[in-house]
Amino acid sequence: MLDLAIIGGGPAGLTAGLYATRGGLKNVVMFEKGLLGGQITGSSEIENYPGIAHAVTGMELMEPWPKQCMKFGMKHRMDEVSLVSKDGNIFKVALLGGEVVDAKSVFIATGSTPRRAGIKGEDKFFGKGVSTCATCDGFFYKDKNVAVLGGGNTALEEALHLANICSKVYLIHRRDSFRASPITVKKVRNRENIELILNTNVKEIIGDMMGVTDVIIVDKQNIEKTLNVPGIFVFVGMNVNNKILKQKDGTNLCNLDKNGNIIVDLNMKTSLKGLFAGGDIRIDAPKQVVCAAGDGAIVGIQALEYVNN
Ligand code: FAD
Ligand code: NAP
Repeated sequence: MLDLAIIGGGPAGLTAGLYATRGGLKNVVMFEKGLLGGQITGSSEIENYPGIAHAVTGMELMEPWPKQCMKFGMKHRMDEVSLVSKDGNIFKVALLGGEVVDAKSVFIATGSTPRRAGIKGEDKFFGKGVSTCATCDGFFYKDKNVAVLGGGNTALEEALHLANICSKVYLIHRRDSFRASPITVKKVRNRENIELILNTNVKEIIGDMMGVTDVIIVDKQNIEKTLNVPGIFVFVGMNVNNKILKQKDGTNLCNLDKNGNIIVDLNMKTSLKGLFAGGDIRIDAPKQVVCAAGDGAIVGIQALEYVNN
């Protein structure tokens, strides 16, 4: 029986693992289906994590985190969790392969994943010119023109990264003002090889056997234009990964808000005893690495108290 099952190995999960094991919990296992470190490992540059005086890549930032947790006894399993349920006082963590692991407490730290824009051709050419990761795929477009869709921090920061590699970046946004922070907007506006295409949507992504060839855009006056680009990066927000909470009878294991975010109190406790949630998946998440880590620290401390009492 685990003392604490941590689901998700991003900044929230890893910090909870550190605090719980260093605080004395013995059987702490992290279930992570992909790369330890979470979604920030796909970021080309992070400069707002405290203590990082010079910008680093997300991968560089996260590289020491798992080592630090494991030093105090946290175990890692590279498994995808398919369902979390509760039977009496015991949580049942079901894995994709069929195994079910028992735990006294559970931390849901499954974060969020990039949303699709729902454009014609987007799914067809996903991985063949359509991407949601500039760090991973940017190099394929070295000295070529690419398009970026979105007006948030991710779109603008990744457009800046792509502008270092590509000849030209068309930044397409459906409005004329941005959600991204003013400092990032200023950097984008000052970058010579980023062309802003505002008040415009992408109508269709076109391609052939080799991948994307063109992106058809349409502005508010309904005027269509074709951009000849071999790649488009879609950064239109994130969806929270909450499907493991959906029970066989259709109810959720704990209370969620209307957007699917998990409702927690200031101790990261959900509506169900022994079940904690934090990081990007919780209500009102600022969606920052430092905040996810802060939530994880709270959960480590709270889980310790819950299991010991
Ligand atoms: P995540 O990092 O999303 O980690 C969740 C983990 O859970 C993932 O590794 C996932 O594989 C795993 N998982 C999900 N479901 C399951 C399952 N069923 N079973 C097993 N494992 C599962 N924040 C900043 O502070 N500064 C920045 O500069 C910044 N830049 C960013 C740039 C980009 C491109 C992106 C996408 C995000 C950026 N962010 C930035 C936001 C930051 O990455 C997130 O706020 C943070 O990673 C959230 O951490 P988390 O631990 O809650 O979740
Ligand atoms: P976001 O802030 O939700 O922005 C999504 C953008 O995509 C918005 O500009 C939105 O337009 C646009 N959009 C949404 N659906 C669209 C569609 N179907 N077609 C065209 N455009 C569409 O998402 P994000 O940029 O991924 O950021 C997610 C969170 O992570 C945010 O809280 C962000 O601050 C945080 N983050 C922080 C940093 C950092 O601190 N440096 C870096 C990256 C991310 P509208 O504006 O018109 O709605």
